[in-house]
Amino acid sequence: MSSHDSRILVIGAGIAGASVAAHLALRNATTILEMEDRPGYHTTGRSAAVYEPNYGPRSILALTRAGRDFYHSPPDGFAGAPLTAPRPSLFLMPEGQEEAARTFLATAQGIERIGIAEARALHPLLRESYPKACYLDTTTSDIDVDLLHQGYLRMFKARGGRLVCEARATAITYRNGGWTVSTPKGEFTAPIIVNAAGAWADQVAILAGAQPVGLVPKRRSIAVVPPPANCNVMSWPLITDTGETWYCKPSGGKLLVSPADATPVDPHDAYAEDETLAVGIERFQQAVDFEVTHVERNWAGLRTFAPDGEPVCGYDPNCEGFFWLAGQGGYGIQSAPGLSRFAAALIERRPIPDDIADQGLHESDLLPGRFSA
Ligand SMILES: Cc1cc2nc3c(=O)[nH]c(=O)nc-3n(C[C@H](O)[C@H](O)[C@H](O)COP(=O)(O)OP(=O)(O)OC[C@H]3O[C@@H](n4cnc5c(N)ncnc54)[C@H](O)[C@@H]3O)c2cc1C
Repeated sequence: MSSHDSRILVIGAGIAGASVAAHLALRNATTILEMEDRPGYHTTGRSAAVYEPNYGPRSILALTRAGRDFYHSPPDGFAGAPLTAPRPSLFLMPEGQEEAARTFLATAQGIERIGIAEARALHPLLRESYPKACYLDTTTSDIDVDLLHQGYLRMFKARGGRLVCEARATAITYRNGGWTVSTPKGEFTAPIIVNAAGAWADQVAILAGAQPVGLVPKRRSIAVVPPPANCNVMSWPLITDTGETWYCKPSGGKLLVSPADATPVDPHDAYAEDETLAVGIERFQQAVDFEVTHVERNWAGLRTFAPDGEPVCGYDPNCEGFFWLAGQGGYGIQSAPGLSRFAAALIERRPIPDDIADQGLHESDLLPGRFSA
């Protein structure tokens, strides 16, 4: 088996690993180890691709908002097309979700309450009797996730970074002031490891002898359904209820319908279950005058959460040179431009970027040590 030296080894080539590695490769010899035969096979390739700066816990709001400029004007050569396209979101409050609506509105910025007639002009399927209140968010967008992910991987490689696929970390040992990671592609060594293994991040930590932080992968499913005939669905907003029990987003001329499920599971190659998809379609149909005839295709992915719902980003307090970048939940795409710059600064022991600090995030807010007894 051959051995390869780097300054930093990043485990996982999803959006988290790819984006932080692109920044790190500027100043450090960096290698990404990915267990699958291509980057993005797991959660990153399975998202709903929404940028919603009013969605998520406190740090995610800060990081997502701090990433807005990147989405609008990425560095030269990063992407050959826009990374986002505007898609407003329409939040519908049915009977019984008053508390959820109050919670959502407490931290939301730039939301406008609109009447049912205006809402139906935006989304003609909307059932008049469903919402007791409608809130329009025009700050949301579709993200071209593949373009974003490939952009980071291209930036990484242009800076001399090395991506090794089919290289699952199977053993991780610390000796002589550095880490050795064993994979089917050989042994890789570096003084710093970045754990960006998504749903598997606690397992990777255990391999390295670190305490797991209690991450829980939660399955979320999506059904792709054909739209009504003769409708230009691509001009419609995303619609959802304020309690987040379903959502529907136009995509590629079809409708994505999700039950907004969050079923705790072990890390695995996730797939959707028919009954779960049926629940989402049933909830969607309560809100619209439209009958779904069949599901064309479906998928599921794992949204992975720490016990407090915030990401985990920082050096392990008890494991020298072992850095966590995990627990991005259902917000890991939209927050990646902000979180990757935040993480790279902490890894390189630099001050965090001013624009992120201006959003109220402190460098100690996401440290893994907050879960230590
Ligand atoms: C249905 C659904 C809808 C979503 N919608 C949105 C949305 O609209 N907006 C948004 O911002 N977010 C959304 N998300 C969440 C977002 O997709 C995730 O937060 C994000 O993709 C997590 O990225 P990651 O790189 O941490 O994980 P992953 O993409 O899963 O990457 C982790 C990588 O680590 C690799 N790995 C694991 N173990 C090892 C090992 N031992 N050795 C080597 N490699 C290893 C895996 O193969 C994988 O490629 C959604 C998620 C789902 C499932």
